[in-house]
Amino acid sequence: MKAFGFAAQSAESQLVPFSFERRELRPEDVSIDIQFCGICHSDIHSARNEWGGTHYPFVPGHEIVGRVSAVGDTVTKYKVGDLVGVGCLVDSCRHCTSCYDGLEQYCENGFTATYNSEDTIGGTAHDFTFGGYANKIIVDERFVLRIPEHLDPAAAAPLLCAGVTTYSPLKHWKVGAGQKVGIIGLGGLGHMGVKFAHAMGAHVVMITTSPAKGHDAKKLGAHDVLISKDADAMAQAASSFDFLLNTIPVGHDTDPYMNLLKRDGTMVIVGAVETLTHTSGVPFIFRRRSMAGSLIGGLPETQEMLDFCGEHNIVCDIETIAMKDVNAAYDRTVAGDVKYRFVIDMATLGDAAAGLGTEHSS
Ligand code: NAP
Ligand code: ZN
Ligand code: ZN
Repeated sequence: MKAFGFAAQSAESQLVPFSFERRELRPEDVSIDIQFCGICHSDIHSARNEWGGTHYPFVPGHEIVGRVSAVGDTVTKYKVGDLVGVGCLVDSCRHCTSCYDGLEQYCENGFTATYNSEDTIGGTAHDFTFGGYANKIIVDERFVLRIPEHLDPAAAAPLLCAGVTTYSPLKHWKVGAGQKVGIIGLGGLGHMGVKFAHAMGAHVVMITTSPAKGHDAKKLGAHDVLISKDADAMAQAASSFDFLLNTIPVGHDTDPYMNLLKRDGTMVIVGAVETLTHTSGVPFIFRRRSMAGSLIGGLPETQEMLDFCGEHNIVCDIETIAMKDVNAAYDRTVAGDVKYRFVIDMATLGDAAAGLGTEHSS
């Protein structure tokens, strides 16, 4: 099936219009007309090859919301017209322990990511998957999520990655009432971390490098704000947190944050895949603190998170943009100038293409 979107042609190039193929509908597939796609910082890391391993042309996007336009013969969960989402995963081995447990993100045989993954299903001339900055996508129904109809579809799109990436560790480490929880970094992930931790009943502290974001953090549900550059405030808050969710997108020194944890507290890293530094084992040994990591969420938990959002009327705070503004939005995200997630309105895709000319895949 012919599809159309925006792609990076190299690490240095801007995203430009791009025509490509999606596979034809198989019996177990759902075809989705994409309405909105969020811009995750991972899209930018990947488009710019900051993590290595990006295959070009590269179509980003794993916060996808749209309407079902066709279903294969054996599809039972969805029908034409349903409001659905696709997150970071489009396939996994389905038979390892993690897949069996509904933790497909930890598939022991390697999951298929929505973009830049080897396409094990095939059916096109491309070797790697193409993401959601596009008009259509075809996904096995097992990897399609249901979006509560009463949620704003644009503001729901970032739930598919930013939402589940923060919901999953908060649930796994049993964050709730009576706990003091710090969310580090007020960006796309962080602002959802604040909303979820608040909804789960915790006392939430926004830990930010940006004093100007303090007011917003409180509107999002933070009870307090801690400025991480303020050494005195950090010292005063030492050993007071039960749990920290760290969304900083770059390598950093973890000591100032670990020292905020109480005895037996845990800091979960979701942002930095780069080098983390710490002086010694002391921040871990004293007070028996832990540092852990967490990757997105599996399909059952992503649906659970979407249903939780439906129940509590939680969506993301977004700035909707036209496709032609995607490159500027990348720069603004890197500069921390976004409140708090850019979402591309896919209805503007055609206009953007008309304005910029189209690159075709070979
Ligand atoms: P984002 O919107 O750019 O937000 C990151 C926030 O971190 C910034 O707004 C800023 O908040 C803070 N920050 C930035 N640079 C910093 C620095 N040098 N030191 C301290 N704080 C800094 O990014 P995002 O989309 O939320 O993604 C965050 C990270 O998570 C990215 O690396 C992304 O690739 C990754 N990610 C991981 C998963 C997973 O499954 N583990 C899933 C999705 C994304 P303040 O101004 O408040 O300090
Ligand atoms: Zn993401
Ligand atoms: Zn598996």
